[in-house]
Amino acid sequence: MSRVFNFSAGPGALPEPVLRQAAEEMLDWRGSGMSVMEMSHRGKEFVSIAAEAEADLRAILSVPDNYKVLFLQGGASGMFAGVPMNLLRGRARADYVNTGSWSKKAIAEAGKFCDVNVAAASPEGVLTIPPRDTWKLSDDAAYLHYCPNETISGVEFHWVPEVAAPLVADMSSTILSRPIDVSKFGLIYAGAQKNVGPAGVTLVIVRDDLIGEALPGTPTVWDFKVQADAGSMSNTPPTYAWYVAGLVFKWIREQGGLDAMAERNRRKVETLYRAIDASDFYSNPVDPDCRSWMNVPFVLADSSLDKTFLAEARDAGLVTLAGHRSVGGMRASLYNAMPQEGVDRLVEFMADFERRNG
Ligand code: PMP
Repeated sequence: MSRVFNFSAGPGALPEPVLRQAAEEMLDWRGSGMSVMEMSHRGKEFVSIAAEAEADLRAILSVPDNYKVLFLQGGASGMFAGVPMNLLRGRARADYVNTGSWSKKAIAEAGKFCDVNVAAASPEGVLTIPPRDTWKLSDDAAYLHYCPNETISGVEFHWVPEVAAPLVADMSSTILSRPIDVSKFGLIYAGAQKNVGPAGVTLVIVRDDLIGEALPGTPTVWDFKVQADAGSMSNTPPTYAWYVAGLVFKWIREQGGLDAMAERNRRKVETLYRAIDASDFYSNPVDPDCRSWMNVPFVLADSSLDKTFLAEARDAGLVTLAGHRSVGGMRASLYNAMPQEGVDRLVEFMADFERRNG
């Protein structure tokens, strides 16, 4: 068996010890005689798996007691609707910040439920974040939504906005990459398939005073209060994805928690950005103040070499480096499971490719 270094933006690489443990426990989870996939979600085995995963996540993120942690379905895209359905609470307007493709999708979906005030937007084609003092907030916004890390363009907030309305963050591609102060947020959501676990489970962390007033017509499975009261089991939850997420949380704790993740991630991105900046052959188009730690897009000076670059990288065991289909070029996603060695190998490959083609 030979495993590659997988730079996919998601579903992305998972820590190898997690995959090994899942494999070991596949047919018989700890003497139960069953795979986790075969367990009733109401049985004591799965209930214990679920509770332990939640406890580990709460410990890793230091989630305050007045926040609910939900393990839902529907992906982050589902939450583009779930957020307004749950957080409008009788208000007609919400503020959104537009810093890229995922912000735009969230804005479009929210527009089905309320009046969306785009409080700030990155200028078209400029990969930056509008400064906080230029944002035009509304007085009556139910919440302010932003995307701390735009997975496609690699634009990341390295600060948390201060606003009066509850802060809502789509953390799909940045959650668990470093410590965050959960108490600054009204609601955090994230699709799992980057730093959390397999696709299929969606995390929602929500302050408990914000739930309980869902819009009439909200599907029961996306009523955060109903799900909070039911321990995310108002219907069958994505049990296997939840279990693997729990193994990932344990792995993060064993590695030293989010401080350790942050240190490793910082070193990885510094390695890659330094290599890109030192060369005329590669470039990164993002404002240096908002360069992502998780998704690093870069382009070759001569785009006619893109296909050769990708094919030769693949032969070198470095895969899924193509940029998002909407932007082209390259993108290296460096989620928690990507070891420093993978980035070192990528940087060596890039230097060698440049020597041969530059
Ligand atoms: N938001 C962000 C920041 C994302 O990166 C993605 C997926 N790449 C989504 C939302 C959509 O997630 P899902 O496919 O889980 O609905």
